[in-house]
Amino acid sequence: MSENDRKNLHYDFVLCAEPGCPNLALTGRAVCWKHLKEKDLYRKEILEMAKAGESFKDYVLEDVDFSGMNLSGADLAGAVLNRANLEGADLSGAGMIRASLAGANLKGANLANADLELAVLGLADLSGACFQGAILERSNLVGVTAIEADFRDASMYYSRPGNAEFSRADLTGAEITRAIFRKANLADANLAGCRGNANFENANLSGAKR
Ligand SMILES: [Zn+2]
Repeated sequence: MSENDRKNLHYDFVLCAEPGCPNLALTGRAVCWKHLKEKDLYRKEILEMAKAGESFKDYVLEDVDFSGMNLSGADLAGAVLNRANLEGADLSGAGMIRASLAGANLKGANLANADLELAVLGLADLSGACFQGAILERSNLVGVTAIEADFRDASMYYSRPGNAEFSRADLTGAEITRAIFRKANLADANLAGCRGNANFENANLSGAKR
């Protein structure tokens, strides 16, 4: 392991070693995902760590392709996963407090019972994803696409899903106290049994079940 690699294991937010590259280096590597040659090896290492129950707290994993991977129960608190491809990944029960998932692809991913308190998911694609029983308290959901996503019994207390696309999403039994659905599209969404009062200012609730 090079000196640079060693540093990256312990210090977050190191820039990619490729000259002129503005991206962050991945934790444990000197370069960003784009410039990483051994992508399969990196994925394998992460999978093995996940299997062994090791923590990914505050890891920088921007732009990674972890689609379809099993990271259930992983500790990803504070992890930086902006623009990551997590399509179809299993993140059920994962600890993702304060994780940053801006612009990430979470299509069809399983985040049942995950803890996403204070997580940043702005502009992420959550279509068809499962957030059943997940904690999304005070999360940033601005502009997410969550078509047909499953938020049953999730806690969305004080979350900010403004301008979000929630058509045909299932929010049955979700806690929505102080959630801000301003200008969100909730057409044909299921809001039956939602707990608490949310802000639906200028939201589209046509066909929504209340
Ligand atoms: Zn780079």
